Amino acid sequence: MDSRMVESYACGRWHRATDEGRAVISPVDGAEVARVSSTGLDVAAMAAYGRETGGPALAALTFHERAAALKALGLTLMAGKAEFYAESARTGATERDSAVDIDGGFGTLLSYASKAKRELPNDVIHLDGPVEQLGKKGTFVARHVHTSRRGVAVQINAYNFPVWGFLEKLAPAFIAGVPTIVKPATQTAYLTELVFRRIIESGLLPEGSVQLLCGDPAPLLDALGGQDSVAFTGSAHTAATLRAHPAIVANSVHFTAEADSLNASVLGAGVTTDAPEFELYVKQLTTEMTVKAGQKCTAIRRALVPEPMVDAVIEAARARLDRVVVGAPGAEGVTMGPVVSLSQRTDVLAAVDKLRGAADLVVGDPDRVAVVGGDAETGAYLPPMLLRSTDPEAPEVHEIEAFGPVATVIGYRDTAHAVELIARGGGSLVASLVTADPQLAREVLLGIAPYHGRLLVLNAEDARESTGHGSPLPVLVHGGPGRAGGGEELGGIRGVLHHMQRTAIQGTPEVLAAATGQWVTGAPRTEGAEHPFRKSLAELRLGDTIVGGPRTVTLADIGHFADFTGDTFYAHTDPEAAAANPLFGGIVAHGYLVVSLAAGLFVDPAPGPVLANFGVDSLRFLTPVRADDALTVTLTAKQITPRSGADYGEVRWDAVVTNQDGAPVATYDVLTLVAKTRDGGEA
Ligand code: NDP
Repeated sequence: MDSRMVESYACGRWHRATDEGRAVISPVDGAEVARVSSTGLDVAAMAAYGRETGGPALAALTFHERAAALKALGLTLMAGKAEFYAESARTGATERDSAVDIDGGFGTLLSYASKAKRELPNDVIHLDGPVEQLGKKGTFVARHVHTSRRGVAVQINAYNFPVWGFLEKLAPAFIAGVPTIVKPATQTAYLTELVFRRIIESGLLPEGSVQLLCGDPAPLLDALGGQDSVAFTGSAHTAATLRAHPAIVANSVHFTAEADSLNASVLGAGVTTDAPEFELYVKQLTTEMTVKAGQKCTAIRRALVPEPMVDAVIEAARARLDRVVVGAPGAEGVTMGPVVSLSQRTDVLAAVDKLRGAADLVVGDPDRVAVVGGDAETGAYLPPMLLRSTDPEAPEVHEIEAFGPVATVIGYRDTAHAVELIARGGGSLVASLVTADPQLAREVLLGIAPYHGRLLVLNAEDARESTGHGSPLPVLVHGGPGRAGGGEELGGIRGVLHHMQRTAIQGTPEVLAAATGQWVTGAPRTEGAEHPFRKSLAELRLGDTIVGGPRTVTLADIGHFADFTGDTFYAHTDPEAAAANPLFGGIVAHGYLVVSLAAGLFVDPAPGPVLANFGVDSLRFLTPVRADDALTVTLTAKQITPRSGADYGEVRWDAVVTNQDGAPVATYDVLTLVAKTRDGGEA
């Protein structure tokens, strides 16, 4: 295959550099694969274009519409993934490695699309937390809201995940309504560019919502302001440089970094060699060493093992590592490819040399690596290398990261010692503990959670379903404190909110309702002649209200409900015992009876636009209901969410049940599905 010039996609067109650019050499055979340069590109203009073209285009879409675009994109890319696999092999990735990057990336788009549709409103504003009542009379209230920032989300990525790396950052930013500029690492930019080309060709994302910068991002950083953000993945050194960039400091640009870390995996005390957890531990260790030739920010670098188990773990790992076949991706039997470049190979070997100051190399010899189907001279091949620490406290093993197929086994005395050693990593992305003992798990987790973004407890029970130590998941937080960069990505909707500004809005309930699109207690209610259940989604308005009751609750009602449901708890059935209850002092109605009676008071029975009741939220019983109390229910349309692609939507109703004194007895939200029109079609 010929070398090709990698282009950038900027300001609505593809840009080819005006010089020859930097050559990218394949680690498989030393052949030139691509050239990369941004010479001649008006990089600073990309930020303005994103803000002025991409931003408004995204702002015109609701969370649900953005989710639909992401879903369509994920499915389109997935259908054409064969060509990405072919290109990925040139980066040194085996098929298994490519699956993590390519399928993992497209899966992240789909996961975000589905999360956004289920967990965000069909709107452009996200509400954060409950209404805060600030004045005694309820005329002055407040609520926190999230709105999309008006800047660009710049992502600067590492070489090791040319597909997943940019999609895991793009998906949450896109859902948040913020345009993205992708800067891939030069070494693997050709694969990112290929996927990007297919994204642009699909026409599924609004123009300006994504741009690609292959080459030097420096002029772009100078153009960033307070609405922009930078999300960096790569070395701790570059992270520190970028964090201190003058424009980032001067304009308080949101900056997050995900840097390399010395992730630990602990074999729990008490696991014997014949326990299933022993094999799980060793298998996980060797898998993490060899997937992507160990070039994963989440890979295990420190294997913490009870001192008496060190020999057994090393021998079991050796048996597995001896079976690893190093060579060109796709060649017969190859299970581990090269690292990404010759210079990365040199870096890994230098790090191993430093580690050898505090550890012995016990598996793998870098001078004698059998290579299948590749060129051992011009390719960047390494064997898996396992070290055994000679001094568990030595700083080398906790500070030096060999970003390749390398891990160090460290013996620990007891659990407290293991916790203390893990903390010496200075903050990591992930740690795993292999144990079947829940109490041990709690002890270790309490000790090490403050140093980690994610923790996995693995044992025979969850192993089959476990996604593994090294896999960041779209729904879980990815990032870590300190050495790991201090940033946080993904985590489901949390990742979306990173791109939005949280603002406290203060005002009257009416203003808050209008501003947030959600009715607030104290805002006007409209009690019309027509029952709100007779109204379609198109006709219903926030504040539409029905008041039902009063309905007197009798002792017979309570007894009947107890017999009928079998809920004969003494407070509803035994006058003497109920009298002794310090909260009730006598027979009280079941909370569920109150809710059921309330439904009987507000429901309109005839067939109509209301299709179903799919649950209640935030149900609280506030005042006990006794025989002869009279209940009134007030039901108010609180939030109306049409579902895109369906002929119905969701209506959230505020329900308040009061007694004859006006005291609230129960409060909750009733959730219903309502047709968009009276005849059941789209509005
Ligand atoms: P770098 O930190 O050098 O590069 C990461 C990204 O930053 C690349 O896109 C790079 O672009 C860009 N970059 C580098 N310097 C600057 C700068 N001054 N201004 C703006 N952007 C810059 O990491 P490498 O990819 O070279 O890997 C080096 C080490 O980083 C590895 O050996 C490993 O230890 C660690 N690493 C950590 C990863 C993680 O996931 N946390 C992933 C990969 C590596 P360009 O490629 O064009 O130079």
